[in-house]
Amino acid sequence: SAKEQGKAWHIVFDQTMYDRAVALLQLETDLRWAIARQELRVVYQPIVSVATGKITGFEALVRWQHPERGLISPAEFIPVAEETGLIIQIGQFVLRESCQQLKRWHSDFPQFQYLSINVNLSGKQFSQPCLVEEIEQLLQEFELDASSIKLEITESAIMASPEQAATILQQLKTLGIKLCIDDFGTGYSSLAYLHCFPIDVLKIDRSFTKRIDRDGEQLAIVRAIVTLARNLGMSVVAEGVETVNQLVQLRLLECDQAQGYLFSTALSDDKISLLLASKLGS
Ligand code: C2E
Ligand code: MG
Ligand code: MG
Ligand code: MG
Repeated sequence: SAKEQGKAWHIVFDQTMYDRAVALLQLETDLRWAIARQELRVVYQPIVSVATGKITGFEALVRWQHPERGLISPAEFIPVAEETGLIIQIGQFVLRESCQQLKRWHSDFPQFQYLSINVNLSGKQFSQPCLVEEIEQLLQEFELDASSIKLEITESAIMASPEQAATILQQLKTLGIKLCIDDFGTGYSSLAYLHCFPIDVLKIDRSFTKRIDRDGEQLAIVRAIVTLARNLGMSVVAEGVETVNQLVQLRLLECDQAQGYLFSTALSDDKISLLLASKLGS
């Protein structure tokens, strides 16, 4: 009956859920235009050597300056971009920007030719058949050495389809690209699988770094990751380093590189250029 249907409708209909769906749809529509309207930009966070404190490279991180909502965090729009497939275009944009910018820094600061750039790859991008070719073209266009590009992939992206991942990773590796596992320790990766992939770098998730100066268990986990990486011939980057005490612990553990607010947040390309200029001759 109509009455019963009305009742059912009340059970299913939830204003909050509806509002959220509308907001998500709006976000998706806006995101479709974001690239064309030049609302997306890339910022760069320095990665430093733990032993010397010198900058070894940067992680490229995307930002969205929304005309009405202001700055939207990638944590909010990357998942929407993944779901809608827009991540492919966004990923291409970030890769191109990053390569172009790295080339500029190499040309403007010849003494910093060794600087490399890390670019995050989403699972969807990672399973695009043309990914390898696209990267090859960018390397040619910007005359970059493949080893100056490091791609960050999560464990879940690899484990979503391990065999396909192995093939693509091997192709990238053959090009000379360096491969990193991002947020290591938070995904569902099987340690037994790790040696099957040509990974160069493990990035320790910041949830582990956070308490290594106060918590013996966290310290033990980070020590185990560093040892694992050593034994597999990989290097280690600690993410989210915020305090001097954390850095001291990482130095004792002989972690290779670090990234975090202690050194710098992610900065615009102009600010990075100023930073590099200030380090000339040092
Ligand atoms: P991620 O790749 O693990 O990047 C590191 C995140 O940690 C960045 O957040 C960075 O700003 C933040 N961070 C760095 N140092 C510290 C610290 O000392 N303390 C704290 N609390 N945070 C720190 P961001 O830029 O908001 O990016 C969040 C995530 O969004 C990234 O995590 C990555 O998964 C994704 N993302 C960002 N840019 C891209 C992109 O171009 N493509 C893809 N596919 N994903 C991206
Ligand atoms: Mg990353
Ligand atoms: Mg990370
Ligand atoms: Mg993260």
